Amino acid sequence: MATISEEEIRRIVASVVSGMAAKKAMPAESTKAAEWDSTQYHGRRLIGIYSDMNEAIENANAGYRAVRAMTVEQREKIITEIRRLTREEAPIMAELGVAETGMGKVEHKRLKHILVADKTPGTEDIVSSAKTGDSGLTLIEMAPFGVVGAITPSTNPSETVICNSIGMIAAGNGVVFNPHPNAIATSNYAVDLVNRACKAAGGPDILVCSMVKPTLESAAVMQSHPFIRLLVCTGGPGVVKAVLSSGKKAIGAGAGNPPVIVDDTADVKKAAKDIIDGCTFDNNLPCIAEKEVFAFDSIADQLIAGMKENGAYQITAEQAARLASVVLVEKKGKDGRVSKIVNRDCVGRDADVILDKIGIKVGKEVRCIICEAEFNHDFVQHELMMPILPIVRVSDIDEAIDLAVKAEHGNRHTAHMHSKNIDNLSRFAKAVETTIFVKNAPSYAGIGFGGEGHTTFTIAGPTGEGITSARSFTRQRRCVMADSFRII
Ligand code: NAD
Repeated sequence: MATISEEEIRRIVASVVSGMAAKKAMPAESTKAAEWDSTQYHGRRLIGIYSDMNEAIENANAGYRAVRAMTVEQREKIITEIRRLTREEAPIMAELGVAETGMGKVEHKRLKHILVADKTPGTEDIVSSAKTGDSGLTLIEMAPFGVVGAITPSTNPSETVICNSIGMIAAGNGVVFNPHPNAIATSNYAVDLVNRACKAAGGPDILVCSMVKPTLESAAVMQSHPFIRLLVCTGGPGVVKAVLSSGKKAIGAGAGNPPVIVDDTADVKKAAKDIIDGCTFDNNLPCIAEKEVFAFDSIADQLIAGMKENGAYQITAEQAARLASVVLVEKKGKDGRVSKIVNRDCVGRDADVILDKIGIKVGKEVRCIICEAEFNHDFVQHELMMPILPIVRVSDIDEAIDLAVKAEHGNRHTAHMHSKNIDNLSRFAKAVETTIFVKNAPSYAGIGFGGEGHTTFTIAGPTGEGITSARSFTRQRRCVMADSFRII
């Protein structure tokens, strides 16, 4: 008799639940991402989806020309409508995202969409400046690039499409997306949402475009097309390198491996809860999420006990070794060298599903798998993007900073620390040089969820734009009036 794996059951259940919540049938019967229909949602044709990248770019360019003719107020109306629809349809996109990719948690994905709707800056982010002096007036304005080519990940698919769209449209651009193939239905749902909002707010019918079937070839067409003036890439190291080699202006938001230090002055109980809350948010898919902990030996036992009180399940060194051989797989590179990469079937999965792979049965109350580990352990060195958290004991702040900086691998992405010692906090922040540094809070505070500041799902460390927003997608233009237009 044919057997059905737990993973398949989970996907089918997610699919059925999603359909029930939306009170419609799913877009496709298949559970394989590649077979999802990315052109329609329950029989409704999605707007702005093309089978040819050149056609997609031409339509995004027409949208850009229409937006250029609009006032800033009209542009803001489009953004207001995108925010409204995003809040309204967040549950649908959250369910679709989990059903299509098999990764993450529906409720957390819903919250991520609300965050994008509420905290992504709009046109107010574009600020002009003026310089006056004896020689007259010089005006500096932030202009659109034209059509932006955006590559988006599978980990936050619709969140990134909507967040990018708000910022790029606020800056006056059109956008063409080449989304992750494993999340194409979810990404295209978001592209359609932006176009529906645009039309409803008096804009062109199509402003953002995407592909029926995105491929590396369609990405290559995008990277070399003359209409594409800016590339924005959110993903792992491979794709960031590809766009940075394109010869075009590019914004690269790449991989991280965020370390957490907990020293002996921390509120250890709170640190344990914050770390588990951050690490398990959307099953560790956010690139900012806690990936490995460096805990002072003197508080490590208390920290581990606190984590267990908050839904962590501790495995032994032997179990961790077996799990490492499941969640990481060997891959031969073009140069013939073998390296370990994450097993896609484990990324973003629930802790109980991952534990089941090594024969450990637990319930859904287990949110996170923890273990004690040496610095060189695979769990410390690799960006796993799943709820597995290794804890390395350190003797003092010197060792903690040294190892945490090494584990971050120079990504300069995100780091976290729980401490009340200002000197220790400052030392680590300076040494690690990350774009985001979160003190005494879960990782998501760093993108405005329970912390101050705007949000983004494109954190551009390698190219330096940081927490991207509308102004990141503009180019500076200067207008000079010599010897006049001063009023003093
Ligand atoms: P991924 O790197 O597998 O894919 C990202 C996108 O790039 C996809 O659309 C993919 O099809 C495309 N792609 C891959 N190689 C390409 C190439 N050579 N040329 C053109 N396109 C190519 O990413 P993923 O697994 O979906 O996302 C996880 C990774 O992204 C993690 O490393 C995570 O840290 C990172 N990430 C970073 C940020 C950030 O803001 N810095 C945000 C989300 C995810």
